[in-house]
Amino acid sequence: MRSNSPEKPREFDAVIIGAGLAGLHTARRLSASGVSVLLVDRKEDIGARVHTTGIFVRKTFEDFDFPEGSLGIPISRVNLYSPSMKCLSLTSPAPEFRIGRMDALYSSMLDQSRRLGVEFLNGARFAGSNPESGEPGTSVVRIEKSGIVETIRTKVLIGADGVGSAVARDLSLDTNSEWIVGFEKVFRRSSPTSEPVLHCFLSSDFAPGYIAWIADDGAECHIGVGGYPERFDPSKALSRFIETAANVVLPTDDLEETESRGGRIPVGGILRRIANPRGVLVGDAAGAVSPLTAGGLDPCLRLSDFAAEAVIARIRSGDPKVLLNYSGEVFEKGFATKLLMRSALRTFKFDFQYEWLFAALTSRPGRRLAEKIFFRRSSFPDLSSSDPRRKRVLESIDAAGAR
Ligand SMILES: Cc1cc2nc3c(=O)[nH]c(=O)nc-3n(C[C@H](O)[C@H](O)[C@H](O)COP(=O)(O)OP(=O)(O)OC[C@H]3O[C@@H](n4cnc5c(N)ncnc54)[C@H](O)[C@@H]3O)c2cc1C
Repeated sequence: MRSNSPEKPREFDAVIIGAGLAGLHTARRLSASGVSVLLVDRKEDIGARVHTTGIFVRKTFEDFDFPEGSLGIPISRVNLYSPSMKCLSLTSPAPEFRIGRMDALYSSMLDQSRRLGVEFLNGARFAGSNPESGEPGTSVVRIEKSGIVETIRTKVLIGADGVGSAVARDLSLDTNSEWIVGFEKVFRRSSPTSEPVLHCFLSSDFAPGYIAWIADDGAECHIGVGGYPERFDPSKALSRFIETAANVVLPTDDLEETESRGGRIPVGGILRRIANPRGVLVGDAAGAVSPLTAGGLDPCLRLSDFAAEAVIARIRSGDPKVLLNYSGEVFEKGFATKLLMRSALRTFKFDFQYEWLFAALTSRPGRRLAEKIFFRRSSFPDLSSSDPRRKRVLESIDAAGAR
């Protein structure tokens, strides 16, 4: 491998590895505040090989702006099925879910970031970093593109590189150790027809420890399975699911298959050590996914906001230690119940246990709990600005601004 080391390496306030939702949102937030950003992704085209279903919950599309055309028609109905195909139907008066058109969303966020001054390097891989001697907090980052390694100096290295983050390992921060896997096929209809519905299936066969799903907004339909990797073969489980349960609910003959998506989803809760004076982690790299629902898109945006505040504070104050206020510990209380429910789900190994769970959810209090899980306006714990660590970050931004 050749090295392209000009006498003076290029310098950026922040280098972000990974241009998924977390990296793109962080890049946008930082550049809007005048922080110089290099965004790097190993993919040539960030809209290709998307791994997420892309279901956004109400709280997210109410609180964040989405570009025109990047979200599908709202879904207000959830049908939950037991292994024997009994159905519990829940309807909300509000639009609860919208399926993202992820390629359009990512490209629009990238365009926006570039307009704000972000430099983007595609087809380029993070190849490690070292602390810059004599400059606390500063790193020399190695980026490899087409066999050539470039070294870049930065004050903050940001790992937005997903569940198996190489940046987390490089910075000796915490790494994900518990995950489920998801695998789905995406279908399109030329003319939108059916009522938008999110169908969820409990099954020890198709979805051990999680659910199988049909997310259908009338125009786009995602059929998928998820569960603990050691308990099933996702590809075979998806074929069985489509042939049996899915076909009963929604015959797939009139659907045109367009792509397959899949990947690991961290469900161990947010990691504790997600920052040190050289860098921070965001999104899946930080374990920012609801352990119960395995939703990671809302957490990506919210945690990236907090990370951006910490990075802005670090750049403006010149103090690398400000980054230490960005800690997963502040979210621990908010995750406690979801982690407990995840532990319970992990023990479910047989269909009779899912039948029992389903029966419990059809009781009056059970139904209220199901409505709360599917429709409550929450996914990732909100970090109040009165939290002492966030307060310190915000105060140091204010103090630096006043200087
Ligand atoms: C099958 C499936 C379905 C899901 N469905 C939903 C859903 O419907 N709703 C929901 O809320 N959540 C869902 N999730 C979870 C959600 O998709 C993730 O939590 C979220 O996309 C994580 O975004 P991210 O930006 O942190 O990581 P990613 O989207 O994984 O982005 C990481 C980026 O880093 C790049 N990268 C990695 N390593 C390197 C490297 N060494 N050098 C350079 N670039 C690198 C990758 O190319 C990638 O673009 C799903 C997950 C899966 C797997």
